[in-house]
Amino acid sequence: MFRRVFLDNSSTTPIDESVLEEMMPYLREDFGNASSIHHYGQVARSAVDRARHRLAALINSRPNEVVFTSGGTESNNLAIRGLAIENRRHGRHIVTTAIEHPAVKMVCEDLESQGFEVNYLAVDAQGIVSADAVKDAIRPDTILVSVMAANNEIGTLQPIDEIGRIVRELRAGGQKIWFHTDAVQAVGKVPVDVNQIGCDLLSLSAHKIHGPKGVGALFVRRGTRLHTQNIGGRQERGLRAGTEPVALVVGLGAAAESAAGSLSISSSRLGGLRDRLESVVGEMIPDIEFNGDRERRLPNISNISFNGVEGEGLLINLDMRGIAVSTGSACSSGTLEPSPVIRALGKGDAIARSAIRFSLGRQNSSDDIERLLAALPEAVEVLRRLGDADPK
Ligand SMILES: *Cc1c(COP(=O)(O)O)cnc(C)c1O
Repeated sequence: MFRRVFLDNSSTTPIDESVLEEMMPYLREDFGNASSIHHYGQVARSAVDRARHRLAALINSRPNEVVFTSGGTESNNLAIRGLAIENRRHGRHIVTTAIEHPAVKMVCEDLESQGFEVNYLAVDAQGIVSADAVKDAIRPDTILVSVMAANNEIGTLQPIDEIGRIVRELRAGGQKIWFHTDAVQAVGKVPVDVNQIGCDLLSLSAHKIHGPKGVGALFVRRGTRLHTQNIGGRQERGLRAGTEPVALVVGLGAAAESAAGSLSISSSRLGGLRDRLESVVGEMIPDIEFNGDRERRLPNISNISFNGVEGEGLLINLDMRGIAVSTGSACSSGTLEPSPVIRALGKGDAIARSAIRFSLGRQNSSDDIERLLAALPEAVEVLRRLGDADPK
């Protein structure tokens, strides 16, 4: 039987069976509105509260600092636009990086069209922004620093603890400045503790940690004021109006608890699979380039450029062999634009266009990696031969 292998877990993950099971009653008999006073409402309310506690435990926040949203994209919108609009009287300058997810980048670009000024800091050849560069970019009118915890294409970990310290010191000195981090990729793979990071705002998403799509959360540190992006009700302390999607929220809570429980074991297992993948690819396929720092990164992402090969072509070839991978982020694929993240490493268009991201999830086994390793060398060779025959 033809079994497909999913190695695109940075775009989304399969839902955990146990997560799905916890959700089911809230799609069936326990269908109440968490704002209702009667029994049905109370059942829904207590499920939402429990999920809030479970998620808070994963990131070491207080439960009442968790705001449920529809996902990472909405969390980033609420954090960045909400903070900027609320605090525009204190300044209109934002510092971020050149390798943020589109859900940060495009919100920043939109704010530029509304009179804000944004610095998109360069990263080094390994894909890491320096905390000193962040410090140097901050001005008296800077109100927000937004730096992702881990990159979604190359997996590099950013120095967010240091950046958090810098922002906290400035605030202690009287500056009105806050720190947001998009931790959608980091959560569940490396320890994420809002107090160790010292962030004021942190975004996460359920479907990247084997939970359901359509739900995420924003950590909002006590005392951080945001201009509400979604009005029309008093849910989520007025920060995000709309009837809570109880089953989805329950799914996020369950996925968070499951991620917390298996974090170190699962991460070291995935790191082992990733290392096996990279060492065999390195031995068997000539003329390749690993993208991003090989040390300071997530355990589950490997990004490799296969010189002379179009990433898109390789993706399609592997798909025909039953293996799902990605070129860059799902959000920018299909555009034929080379990945801005790989380009930010200073590697040029050809390398960017030949990059493939392999991203592992908890469901992947060593069998899956062997399947890939059995197919990849031939796929690359076929495409390279075709490329040589095709005079461009
Ligand atoms: C997937 C992703 C998002 C968007 O999250 P959604 O829940 O899909 O909206 C934001 N940031 C990063 C880094 C991501 O990988």
